[in-house]
Amino acid sequence: MWKFWQSKSTTTPKMNRLQNTEPPPFRLTDAELLLLSKFLYPSTIDSIISDRRWPTVLGNDVLRVVEQFKHQGLLAVAALSTCIERLFSTTTLKELLKEHGLPVSGKKEILIQRLMEADSEALYKATANMKPLLECSDTGRVLAQAFVNENKAKEDDAIARSKKAAENQNFKEAAQIIAKFQASRIFPGGLWVDWKSDTIIEDMAEDLRIIYSAHPKILTTLTNQQLDLLRPVAAYPIRGKYYLPSDFQTGRVFDGVVAARMLSFYACGQRELKGIRAAGYTHLKISSAPDSCAACKKLSKKTYSADNPPELPHPDCTHEMGCRCLYTSISKTTRLPD
Ligand SMILES: [Zn+2]
Repeated sequence: MWKFWQSKSTTTPKMNRLQNTEPPPFRLTDAELLLLSKFLYPSTIDSIISDRRWPTVLGNDVLRVVEQFKHQGLLAVAALSTCIERLFSTTTLKELLKEHGLPVSGKKEILIQRLMEADSEALYKATANMKPLLECSDTGRVLAQAFVNENKAKEDDAIARSKKAAENQNFKEAAQIIAKFQASRIFPGGLWVDWKSDTIIEDMAEDLRIIYSAHPKILTTLTNQQLDLLRPVAAYPIRGKYYLPSDFQTGRVFDGVVAARMLSFYACGQRELKGIRAAGYTHLKISSAPDSCAACKKLSKKTYSADNPPELPHPDCTHEMGCRCLYTSISKTTRLPD
């Protein structure tokens, strides 16, 4: 259970208005607050209901909780102008204006305003068959935004602590911090990942160990100092771009963010390779992406010994997205062609 009135004050004008109000006479669960936050921007219920995990985390039907929000004054149907803004293209608005013999010049909000002044009844009718957009009320917005801020702060904290542990070579601890954070989320990252399993923590720790030590061939144009700048970007891609200096040069067709991804792909590849060998496969193939460069596509045409396959990411890759090739295990008895 999470109490918004104990959290730090928020700063937007809409919230200031409510800062001194009494807390509402009810408390929302974290799952309910997460659902409410989906309506910080006008949304249809359909766009949320399509995620079938909601009833489980809410312990209730989504529609029922949405009705409850409306009764509690946390959620309301969005204003007509908002619905028009979201549902009508500028072209459609201009056609409607022409039908009314009105000028079609101006920005979208001007067009909407002009139409609403001329014939709001017609606009209501035009939107009647569309799915209604729901939006947080002022009170709902305070609750939802504070919840979002609180979660962002928790994530920042977990990443910062994990990064510090990784920089001190404590990779298992670094992995445990991230796994614990993920497991605590209502919808943990990675749909099928069991964040409480030891295997996940071991795999993450292994990836981090490689990310914080390797110098893959695809990044040979980079100095060791540059590589050290890339390591946290590769290890923590969610916040990664903030760690990357804006003037970072790779000397390759791809930029710093892609270079960091290549470092993390290298770590994943090494782990995959270990798994393939441990499972007793003697040979493997390499699969490339449909739009891979010629060099990468060439790799996918052969069979390789699992003991000594070409390094991935492919050092000669010329794609601006970098190499996206993967090792794939094949029959344990495959023989290399002579
Ligand atoms: Zn390539």
